[in-house]
Amino acid sequence: MRYFERHALGQTIARVRVLDARICGTRKLNQLVGRSFHKVRRHGKHLFVDAGDVWLHIHFGMSGDLAYYLDQPPRFARLIFSFDNGTHLAYQDMRLFGIVDLTPSLEDYVREHRLGPDPLDPKFNLRAFRALLHKRRGRIKALLMSQHAIAGIGNLYADEALFRSSIDPQRPVDQLHREEVKKLFTNIRRVLHDAIALQSRGDDYPSRFLIEVREDGERCPRCGGTIRRTIVAGRTTYYCAKHQR
Ligand SMILES: [Zn+2]
Repeated sequence: MRYFERHALGQTIARVRVLDARICGTRKLNQLVGRSFHKVRRHGKHLFVDAGDVWLHIHFGMSGDLAYYLDQPPRFARLIFSFDNGTHLAYQDMRLFGIVDLTPSLEDYVREHRLGPDPLDPKFNLRAFRALLHKRRGRIKALLMSQHAIAGIGNLYADEALFRSSIDPQRPVDQLHREEVKKLFTNIRRVLHDAIALQSRGDDYPSRFLIEVREDGERCPRCGGTIRRTIVAGRTTYYCAKHQR
C-alpha cells in the first residue's frame, strides 16, 4: 500500500498493457487510460485504488508484487501501467494466483464477495472479534483462514498469532476461554503490524518467531518444545506441541 502511494499516485495513466490475461478479471482495464490514481486502501490481502468513479482492485495471491520502474520491466510482469511522465508500474507475479480487476467501489467489492472485516481496521475491536467467534464451531485456525470471517490474515501469520497466544491451532473455537480470545485478538494485530514493519524495512524475521522454525521436529524458540507439522483446513500448519494448548 505504501509502495503504491509513494510511486503511483497523481500521475496520468497513458497506457495499460496486459501481458498475461489470466490475472485479469472481467472488466476492461483500458478504461483507466487518461485517469489517475487518487488514493489507496487496503482490506485484508486486497488493495483498492481510487481512480475516479472506478476502483482498481488487486489481490496479490501468493507471489504477486508491484514494481515501479523507468526502463526495464520486471521478469514476471503480467500487467503494466505506463504514466505520461515516462514511468511505469508493473504488477508482477511468478505464479498466477493474483488478480487485477476493476470494481465500482471498495464497499461493493467487500459486500459482493462477503469478505470479513480487515483485522487492522480501527473499527475491528475485541468486541467485534468476540462477536465473530460467537456460536462458531470448527477449529480456530480454520476460522482465522476464512476470508468470510476475517479478511486476509494469511497462513503464516495465523500460525504465528496462535503460537504467540499459546493456542493449539486445532482447538475448537467454542472451547476457547475469554482470556485466550483476548490474547489472540491482540496477537493477530501485533503479528500483522510486525510483518508490515519488517517488510517495509526489508528486515528478516527475528529468531523468536515461529516463522523461522517452520519445520517438523524443530525446537521451539520460546519453550524448547518440539515444533510439529499438521494440516488444518487444507493448509500446512506448524505449532509447538508443548506450549500451545
Ligand atoms: Zn513452545
